[in-house]
Amino acid sequence: MTPSPKRQQHVFVVERTERLTPHMVRVHLGGPAFRDFVDGTDPDRLAATDKYVKLLLAPPSSGLTPPYDLEALRTALPKHERPARRTYTVRAVDHAAGTIAIDFVVHGDDGLAGPWAAAARPGDLLALSGPGGGYTPSTEPAVTHVLLGDDSALPAIGAALEAMPATAQGVALVEVAGAEDEQALVVPAGVDLRWLHRDATGAEPGTLLLAAARALPRASRPVRVFAHGERTAVKAIRRLLQDDWGLDKADLSLSAYWALGRAEDRFQEEKREPVGMVFPD
Ligand SMILES: Cc1cc2nc3c(=O)[nH]c(=O)nc-3n(C[C@H](O)[C@H](O)[C@H](O)COP(=O)(O)OP(=O)(O)OC[C@H]3O[C@@H](n4cnc5c(N)ncnc54)[C@H](O)[C@@H]3O)c2cc1C
Repeated sequence: MTPSPKRQQHVFVVERTERLTPHMVRVHLGGPAFRDFVDGTDPDRLAATDKYVKLLLAPPSSGLTPPYDLEALRTALPKHERPARRTYTVRAVDHAAGTIAIDFVVHGDDGLAGPWAAAARPGDLLALSGPGGGYTPSTEPAVTHVLLGDDSALPAIGAALEAMPATAQGVALVEVAGAEDEQALVVPAGVDLRWLHRDATGAEPGTLLLAAARALPRASRPVRVFAHGERTAVKAIRRLLQDDWGLDKADLSLSAYWALGRAEDRFQEEKREPVGMVFPD
């Protein structure tokens, strides 16, 4: 049976890695999978600035290499020994080089994807499926853009800022660990990019972002929001934007990208439970 394009495994090869900042590694992925990935993707989806892929990562001790026969592994191995899915934004597609770039937050030794990226070397293989996603910044001149995120959303925010018309207006609040984690982004002159430094305060991830979002004046012009990051902060930001600012759901691209203390498997399962829901309905 041919897997659906959504679930088709593209096995990319690591071409090179770059340590962008102390807590962010960019992995450039190429090889023959690039052509299949691009050709098999709807051009509108490929143009979305928040396009994301599902990585399949096997526990290092398993000795498994991609592509994975997930059906067979499901019956042969317990869950913790099988490849697990992790979700990542495609930061850039370089058609000339035949590569895609993914920026990984290096958040310590816990988990699969962060440690994988920190240790990735040219020639390593990475299986992924997708992409999903569908946000591109509005090109309406009258719109005020509000972009809110932590390090995990920085790749998508960076891509969105790059895609905006030079005349775009708005504000972008990005929470990172410290000043050395700031990135040189291409930002329209009318967008006020503000970095928030978490580690200096000892605050939990998302706390500074939420406080800074609460301090923003409510724009009088139409507002379009892109807000993603740690779940608790995003839930509170959703309440701020809908209840206090009175924005419609249609004006919001808003979701939890991760949850403190939860591996992605658990966090994704919880999206069906009240604790994991960002929108209550
Ligand atoms: C649509 C979408 C796009 C995303 N894009 C990106 C992206 O481009 N780059 C990116 O780095 N992340 C991105 N994320 C978030 C990423 O999927 C999660 O951070 C994921 O949990 C990381 O997997 P892991 O195997 O490293 O850690 P897991 O095994 O999932 O978690 C292990 C532990 O690490 C903690 N943890 C996980 N992520 C972080 C973090 N960012 N900071 C601090 N602690 C963390 C967890 O709370 C848990 O305690 C995206 C998520 C979504 C849904």
